[in-house]
Amino acid sequence: MFKDIETLCVQGGYEPKSGEARVLPIYQSTTYKYDDPKHLSDLFDLKAEGHIYSRISNPTLDGFEKKMASLENGVGAVSTSSGMSAILYSILNLCKAGDNFISLASIYGGSHTLFTTTLKDFGIEVRFLDIDYTNEDFKSLIDENTKCVFGESLTNPNLEILDIKKLSTLTKKFNLPLIIDNSLATPYLLRPIDYGANIVVHSATKYIDGHASSVGGIIIDGGNFDYTDSKFVDFNKEDSSYHGVIYTRDFKNLCYIIKLRVQLLRNIGSTLAPFNAYLFNLGLETLHLRMERHSQNAFRLAQYLETHEKVAWVNYPKLESNKYYDLSNTYLKKGGSGILSFGLKGGYEASLTLSKNLKLANLVVHLADVRTSYLHPASTTHRQLSDDELNRAGIKKELIRISVGIESFEDIKKDFELALSKI
Ligand SMILES: *Cc1c(COP(=O)(O)O)cnc(C)c1O
Repeated sequence: MFKDIETLCVQGGYEPKSGEARVLPIYQSTTYKYDDPKHLSDLFDLKAEGHIYSRISNPTLDGFEKKMASLENGVGAVSTSSGMSAILYSILNLCKAGDNFISLASIYGGSHTLFTTTLKDFGIEVRFLDIDYTNEDFKSLIDENTKCVFGESLTNPNLEILDIKKLSTLTKKFNLPLIIDNSLATPYLLRPIDYGANIVVHSATKYIDGHASSVGGIIIDGGNFDYTDSKFVDFNKEDSSYHGVIYTRDFKNLCYIIKLRVQLLRNIGSTLAPFNAYLFNLGLETLHLRMERHSQNAFRLAQYLETHEKVAWVNYPKLESNKYYDLSNTYLKKGGSGILSFGLKGGYEASLTLSKNLKLANLVVHLADVRTSYLHPASTTHRQLSDDELNRAGIKKELIRISVGIESFEDIKKDFELALSKI
């Protein structure tokens, strides 16, 4: 009955029974107790729902997972120890050695490296698709071993908006599940499943936590994809490690997320700690308020910088000058999130000067928390890259990325005004 996203942020997920703790408790316990051995054997055969061991599930994680599933309009979720492990699992649940998948080329650097190195060593091939693809480009990447498509709703760091509706029409036609990393947009601003995505992943480390306190991730299943096609072999054959369970037959539209939990999380174990799940749940209680303010402050700062005489260019999807302005009116109606980038007319050297003079904005290798921060990739995270490599990654030498916080806008502006005056 109460389904508005602001209400789900505050009250979704955990539902205490009479006399139980009102706030999602931290179950700092690896194990659970049973009165009857039959109860435990049913759990092991996946015939009953409940907890066996905290590597596989835990009541605190369950509260966080249920809230995220409701926020993203999904049917279930599995939390993980980092955003990277969530992305890894989302792919490994569909691909094994000999398979391939398509990824949009413009994605988070860590995901790019995971796909081109570790997954390659696993025998899984990534095929990159440019965001300005044509239907022919897309089609040309597919063969009988293609198992899924991966992209980011709002890309990190280039802030492109993926037209999820357009892409999901294609992935549906070729019967491929579409996985969307929604870390920068968050479900408050954008819900990929509403536009036809099938699986959503997050680095919970970012806006879900929102305070830069914990590393974690989550995978949400839309329950809106039919895995009975024989190309999804492991969904349709008996799993001998669970007494012949067949995921599509026994779990219907929950098959993706249950298979992920009982195979990957059980066997590999990138499990989230209960305390971090508690902090993520606490962070979510104010997600709607924070995203609103992050978006307002970022938009105002983008507008201010765009008119500054020393600034060469500003990249923020809500600016009318932006390539993604029209798409932002479809996909980011409530705000453009808190990340923007810009370049100075003075180039690399001017960026370093600015970097030295910002006071309120801190230099950190992180984004998406309440504190305003910035990064100059060419002199820090990307300093080993040649000019040519920087170009290919779409990172200009003068580029400064700002993660705009929820402090007073006037103070944020003052900080940039002063630092710009020193150039
Ligand atoms: C940070 C980030 C990740 C990686 O998440 P971790 O929690 O740091 O492992 C993945 N995708 C995007 C878009 C990110 O910004």
